[in-house]
Amino acid sequence: MLIDAALLGQLIEHAQRDAPNECCGLVALSGGRAVAIYEMENLAASPLRFEVDGAKLAPLLASLEDAGHEAAIYHSHTRSEPYPSQTDVNFARWWPGCEWLIIGLADRDTPVTRSFMIGEAGSIEEREVVIDG
Ligand SMILES: [Zn+2]
Repeated sequence: MLIDAALLGQLIEHAQRDAPNECCGLVALSGGRAVAIYEMENLAASPLRFEVDGAKLAPLLASLEDAGHEAAIYHSHTRSEPYPSQTDVNFARWWPGCEWLIIGLADRDTPVTRSFMIGEAGSIEEREVVIDG
């Protein structure tokens, strides 16, 4: 995805604010470009996993879809590499076709953001994150 430095900064700020717990939310995309960020609460309040309120996520996804946007899920890894965990792969089955943006804070001074498509059979394919503007 294409994302400008200001939006990426907002994502990293959210991740740092919720650390050591994982943060989570949605990125609205228009033609592969990030246009808005929707912070969500990690109900699990855990450094190892995140849990979203489906009752809030479903209408948000529907409204993005109505506006002609795609949605990517984002969350942070505060201790491990920004690479999908088995928990993420399991969860991804519920959101096929959704891009997964992971903010890695294992090195607090150098946040690393990576993006992936997670297939229904558990395949993981990295997508480029291009910082633009
Ligand atoms: Zn994860």
